[in-house]
Amino acid sequence: MASKKQAYLIGEHLSHSFSPAIHKELGDYSYKLKELPPTALADFLKDRQFDALYVTIPYKQAVIPHLDALDAVAARIGAVNTVICRDGKLFGYNTDYDGLAAMIDSLGVSLAGKKVLVLGSGGASHTATALAADRGAADVVVISRNGENNYQNLEKHRDAKILINATPVGMYPQNGKAPLALSKLPQLEAVFDLIYNPARTALLLEAEALGIPHRNGLLMLVAQAHRAAELFLGKALPKDIIPKITNALAAQTENIILIGMPGCGKTTLGKALAALLGRPFFDADAEIEKQAGRSIPDIFKNEGEAAFRRLETEALRTLCRESGSVIATGGGTVTVAENYPLLHQNGKIIFLDTPPAGLSVAGRPLSATRSPETLYRERLPLYRRFADVTLPITRNIEDNLNRLKEILLQ
Ligand code: NAP
Repeated sequence: MASKKQAYLIGEHLSHSFSPAIHKELGDYSYKLKELPPTALADFLKDRQFDALYVTIPYKQAVIPHLDALDAVAARIGAVNTVICRDGKLFGYNTDYDGLAAMIDSLGVSLAGKKVLVLGSGGASHTATALAADRGAADVVVISRNGENNYQNLEKHRDAKILINATPVGMYPQNGKAPLALSKLPQLEAVFDLIYNPARTALLLEAEALGIPHRNGLLMLVAQAHRAAELFLGKALPKDIIPKITNALAAQTENIILIGMPGCGKTTLGKALAALLGRPFFDADAEIEKQAGRSIPDIFKNEGEAAFRRLETEALRTLCRESGSVIATGGGTVTVAENYPLLHQNGKIIFLDTPPAGLSVAGRPLSATRSPETLYRERLPLYRRFADVTLPITRNIEDNLNRLKEILLQ
């Protein structure tokens, strides 16, 4: 039996990467991660003990002098992310270009005749400027912290129609940061952020709030790997696997966040769901108690509700920037508007809706001062505003779990 072809992802430091999961879906070849110190790069390339290399930071430029041939797009961009070894010779390509093209096309946006702003001046920015020029943009402007066009003179570009973020600003673990406020660019028709962790950066959350079409970088990541696998395998692969792999990865990595009235069963159902899906489970109230070192009734009694809400927001900030968890929130989470982007950045928010009559009030400070019926009336509009999906629940946990599973599989 012929042994499998061998591909490596090379970089100096390779933290958790989606790439192995993507390449597993693209072809029957061996794909391994290989961390190389800069001093080992030349020998690794010279030994040619591989059929393909996927190249990441900081070697996208450094591999170029070691190649036998460079594709025209890669030469223009000055960076290579794919190296194929054919008959002992090394060929370099830049499939980030194809990935970005697929990302832009997925939104059905044309760049022709428009002013395009590209944030950042690194490798990804070169890819974006090359693509925007090829797509007929009227003007492509790089916004660079120390450049002629920078974040202090954005008023020169109020006519920009397309924004591409090619900086790492807002990327995990720096969630919540944005390179600029979109209000400075009132004519935007689309916002693209190359970042995919979190799924919705602060920039994309603002685009969503303003109703501007937007995309994160996950589809780009998958589409560049798809093109690289085509070059490696020497054949065309079906295009429809790009959105399929993207959607599957997005579903696996999103948090499932349960909101609803105190005592409605968020923790019980959340634990059962986490066990079923093999995911970690977090109870936001338990995290607050752990971080504060005291019980929630104690916090309410000694410091009041406002202090509790601040602790809650901080606990959610930490919990919700991670991915792939099931999280049960406190009943009043929805009363703080600031909590919405924290929950939404990586999560699908599910409102467990149940009639308030008969909900347990034991150990719940607010339920002791206001009846469940009053709380429900006050909060129902807020639960609806936060929710991606509403699941009417019953007292039958098994039934609730099955219906929740159906929602998640849709
Ligand atoms: P990079 O070279 O490290 O940085 C890009 C540029 O961002 C820098 O040259 C800098 O430009 C700007 N920048 C860096 N830190 C900044 C800060 N704190 N505030 C404002 N600007 C800052 O990275 P890259 O390789 O080009 O990648 C850029 C982003 O795209 C990363 O988040 C990367 O993960 C993502 N990416 C995604 C894909 C995908 O498939 N989705 C592919 C490639 C890259 P100035 O100094 O000129 O301001």
